[in-house]
Amino acid sequence: MRAYLACFNTVCGAVYPVTEVIYTCPKCGGLLETRYEGPSPEAWTLKQVWRERRMSNHPIDQSGVWRYREMFPFLEEDRHVITLREGNTPILDTVLASSYASVDRIRFKHQGFNPTGSFKDNGMTAGTSQAVRLGMKRVACVSTGNTSASMAAYAVSAGLEPIILIPNGNIAFGKLGQALDYGAKTLQVDANFDQILALVRVLAEKLGIYLLNSVNPFRIEGQKSIVIEMLDQLDWEVPDWIVVPGGNLGNISAFGKGARELYEQGFITRMPKFAVIQAAGASPFYEFMKAPHEHGFTPNTHPETLATAIKIGDPVSWPKAWQTIGAEGVVESVTEQEIADAKAVIGRSGIGCEPASATTLAGVKKLRAAGKIRADESIVAVLTGNVLKDPDYIYRYHTNQLKDPQEQALTGTYANPPVVVANDFAAIAKLLGD
Ligand SMILES: *Cc1c(COP(=O)(O)O)cnc(C)c1O
Ligand SMILES: [Zn+2]
Repeated sequence: MRAYLACFNTVCGAVYPVTEVIYTCPKCGGLLETRYEGPSPEAWTLKQVWRERRMSNHPIDQSGVWRYREMFPFLEEDRHVITLREGNTPILDTVLASSYASVDRIRFKHQGFNPTGSFKDNGMTAGTSQAVRLGMKRVACVSTGNTSASMAAYAVSAGLEPIILIPNGNIAFGKLGQALDYGAKTLQVDANFDQILALVRVLAEKLGIYLLNSVNPFRIEGQKSIVIEMLDQLDWEVPDWIVVPGGNLGNISAFGKGARELYEQGFITRMPKFAVIQAAGASPFYEFMKAPHEHGFTPNTHPETLATAIKIGDPVSWPKAWQTIGAEGVVESVTEQEIADAKAVIGRSGIGCEPASATTLAGVKKLRAAGKIRADESIVAVLTGNVLKDPDYIYRYHTNQLKDPQEQALTGTYANPPVVVANDFAAIAKLLGD
């Protein structure tokens, strides 16, 4: 198989070697996509091979990303692979969340089970491996948190120097803590995500630093493994809906590419429908999809949401996301209150997730109520991040202190506050109802 980079803009159609250090098309500025040509093994053979690799002790077989490496053969040598055994995340059932959304059955594929606690690991293993293959020494990203946590871990384990730029005061503590712990050089910049992304692109080019934001096409290749692993776990039975939060729209782009390639190569016999859910205060893609057209993406210059992982106003991957949504898919937006309550329900299911991930359940509930999803359709929602990423949010919700970005109080509908009690048997027994 030969791998190359192609401009996503069909009018341009330029192609480049996979070893060229570029993130967007030098000719037209369009997004790049990794493509492959040449004969690939039969689907039924690969399905067997992938199952057998689950029993292997070889690091690249144990990885829930590289196990599926035939679907993204852009590296020439396996020795370049940097793996922390990412992927391998479960699909979990919950009666409580299903009834909350008024559907027969919603299942959660929980990417928060990853080594650094978010799906960014699926992409970062691919992006850092490519950096190693290219002989880069430093890597950088701007991040709402999880990208930096993930990049820091993968970079240091590859012997690369991680440089992180984060919007000042807009990052959950769990994520910042991880970046510091993994030893990343961390710069808090007084600007928002979209502004810093523009800056870091200049820095990368001028200083020869490898850029690992989601515009990096190799991260998208790694994130394809989320749908591949999901379908493998479902014995290749395609769900009607795959639901995912939308921020920079890299994940939905990866899911679409992954599913299309599986379909074209005969792994699955139909395509799932995709639903992207955004937070109402940061929903430029939702607005765009009401009346989509070639040139008219209007960024939101002041995105606001407590779900900091999706607080993005100018999502770079929107053309790819648009292609994936197509005519069949939907984009929905949900309020801060809806996110907070859905998150609490996911918590009570014994599953838990970070705020951005809970947009999925809130979105399914809303789409069900609007009749866009039927109760008997099969639904897999992707929980993108671990519950421990943002403990401050949880504490505030359960003690009725959570406020939205406009400082309006949110209601702890399912609040479960801690109870202060004296060190006294009778008092505690009374509280326990005995
Ligand atoms: C990055 C992230 C998102 C947004 O994903 P995009 O690919 O940017 O759309 C959602 N949830 C969590 C937890 C994230 O870390
Ligand atoms: Zn181009």
